Amino acid sequence: MSGKQWGKASILGCFVDLVNMEQALRTVEDMIGDGVPCQVITLNAELVYNAYHNRYLQEIINSARLVTPDGVGIVWAARRLGYRVEERVTGIDMFYNLCKLAAEKGWGVYFLGAAPGVAKKAGEKLASMYPGLNISGNHHGFFNDEENKAIIDEIKSKSPELLFVAMGAPKQEYWINRMKDELGVPVCMGVGGSFDVVAGIKKRAPNFIIKLNLEWFYRLITEPVRFKRQLALPKFVLLILKQKYLRRKREDVKREG
Ligand code: UDP
Repeated sequence: MSGKQWGKASILGCFVDLVNMEQALRTVEDMIGDGVPCQVITLNAELVYNAYHNRYLQEIINSARLVTPDGVGIVWAARRLGYRVEERVTGIDMFYNLCKLAAEKGWGVYFLGAAPGVAKKAGEKLASMYPGLNISGNHHGFFNDEENKAIIDEIKSKSPELLFVAMGAPKQEYWINRMKDELGVPVCMGVGGSFDVVAGIKKRAPNFIIKLNLEWFYRLITEPVRFKRQLALPKFVLLILKQKYLRRKREDVKREG
């Protein structure tokens, strides 16, 4: 297993691995080599804001084996607090890259989540992009507690190396945390709306908008129902500025004392 060469940023009580995409992919490869069930979280500001008010969610994030800087808000906050972040490591980019790697390595992948038919369609699209991709199975993400048992049994029977769960954050993070040991899948990762994007049901923002760091704004315009969720963003910014102010004040006191 490769040694870790990166630090962690502490953002409002959540720890983020300061990895680039390459390091994140190598870490996932290590996890598959280890074979111990692990959770991967791609962190955005909304999730950190939720976790700030929810100790249980914060514990889930901090017990994940890999937490990548997904959102532009996380990259901004980490830099503002003095950490060095090379790049965003988003859920959807990880999803594509891991499927490509899975096709090369022969890892089995299982897709759980989104509306009926979407996971299957996303799988077909990925199989055409990455020939040889071994899709162990798929299931939609709208099921009750009784159906949960049958889904767990089905995934266990297929023993994939990677399980992608697209049920939206933080629902998918709770589900993975609760189920991963029973599933025994080495890598379980929440991918939010990625199946919808891959299947062509939702569009990701054009590249120039992503480069301008305005993907959140594009999502707000194209999915106005997200407005309430995105109210967390300005509150997140204020909390980060407060964290920075308090940190500087502590340093001043230390210096003077
Ligand atoms: N979803 C699901 N089960 C649920 C609720 C949502 O499978 O109980 C799916 C939904 O169909 C969509 C995804 O979860 O495909 C959520 O996408 P969104 O873009 O809202 O996720 P985010 O990336 O913002 O967390």
